[in-house]
Amino acid sequence: MKKEKVVIIGSGPAGLTAALYAARARLEPLVISGNQLGGQISITNEVENYPGFPDGTTGPELVELMRNQAEVFGARMVIDEVTEVNLTTGSPFTLTTHSETYEAEAVIVTVGASSKRLGIPGEEELIGRGVSFCATCDGSFFREKDVVVVGGGDSALEEGLFLTRFANQVQVIHRRDQLRAGEALKRRGLGSEKIEFVWDTVVEEIVGNGKVEAIRTRNVKTGNATDLSTDGVFISIGHYPNSSLFEGQLEMDGKGYLIVDQKMMTSVPGVFAAGEIMDPVFRQIATSVGQGSSAAMMAERWLHERE
Ligand code: NAP
Repeated sequence: MKKEKVVIIGSGPAGLTAALYAARARLEPLVISGNQLGGQISITNEVENYPGFPDGTTGPELVELMRNQAEVFGARMVIDEVTEVNLTTGSPFTLTTHSETYEAEAVIVTVGASSKRLGIPGEEELIGRGVSFCATCDGSFFREKDVVVVGGGDSALEEGLFLTRFANQVQVIHRRDQLRAGEALKRRGLGSEKIEFVWDTVVEEIVGNGKVEAIRTRNVKTGNATDLSTDGVFISIGHYPNSSLFEGQLEMDGKGYLIVDQKMMTSVPGVFAAGEIMDPVFRQIATSVGQGSSAAMMAERWLHERE
């Protein structure tokens, strides 16, 4: 059993920023990366909305810079996945990974959320090549292009409306003939000249050789299959927090997002959370970074007050 002062679970912007702050506070944090170092941004090709990079940057580059900066101050990273936690008996907490068991005085949970996938051919292969889960991140790369948005909720309409700033045409493809979105976004979406709705339709395949070229759709009422040319497919069918590891141990809302207090502390004293695992609203690199720094500052204070 390895003893640690602070263990950070997850290595996205929230986790790497928590690592930087905890390291600068001389807590020598250990980051357990999860199966994708950098989290969701590691699959984002271009990042234009993170301050400090007027010419933009890439997700992988940003991850590398954040990781280096945390390591300069003494943060340590292990590429491993936490498979089990025991938080219920209080600090110190036990964390088990594929290869090790750790005892941690404080834990910062930054395991993020994942975009729901359609689970269709072409989807995974064409991520970053026309398939995107974030219009704010990737919309501006579709200037004068035709794009589709899949989904009928608030996110889909928000994404669709954002994309009208860049794209020639935005088609929102929804599996029913009624939007799930609330009245305000519904009205704006239906009123937009650039948005066309394709009702009662599911996407069955994304087609393209190296980049998105078309989608194969089916009308669920008539059964008719149609191929539709497009340059981009924005999938906006919701997110889910990666919180299954903490079920029954940390308080969550009805959708599985961890509940934290103003000091970023979860329902268990000494366990903090930051980033998309506790934030269903903002979901930006910049906001996750802020939450990560706050959680590390509060963890340091909590450890100090205990001594
Ligand atoms: P959501 O409300 O769960 O909507 C998901 C949409 O995707 C639904 O229209 C759903 O269809 C569709 N969908 C789900 N799985 C699908 C599949 N496998 N294939 C095709 N379509 C599928 O998710 P969200 O839009 O991300 O919103 C999440 C929460 O955040 C909501 O509470 C929302 O109100 C809130 N939000 C609010 C705002 C705002 O107020 N500005 C903005 C964004 C999000 P069905 O309708 O048929 O189920």
